[in-house]
Amino acid sequence: MLKEELLTDGANLPNSYYEAKKIIKELALSYNKIDACTNDCILYWKEDSQLDSCKVCGASRWKIDTHSKETRNKKGKKIAIQRAYAIFL
Ligand SMILES: [Zn+2]
Repeated sequence: MLKEELLTDGANLPNSYYEAKKIIKELALSYNKIDACTNDCILYWKEDSQLDSCKVCGASRWKIDTHSKETRNKKGKKIAIQRAYAIFL
């Protein structure tokens, strides 16, 4: 009995799986990665997207390399201390 129910559910799986994938794909299109203040004051986006430190508490946006004391890593890329993931629908 239980096995039959499972099989019945399984028959619906490909369709719902496809639907779920489609929704995820649509979300991904409106999905943005935004840096955030380490103290959660602000998000670095819109007019604040170019700031290097928080305009509220002054905390650095970027990780500082302990050896070079620079905000860029070996590849010359800045790494944000905290990254917020935002989905805009
Ligand atoms: Zn802050």
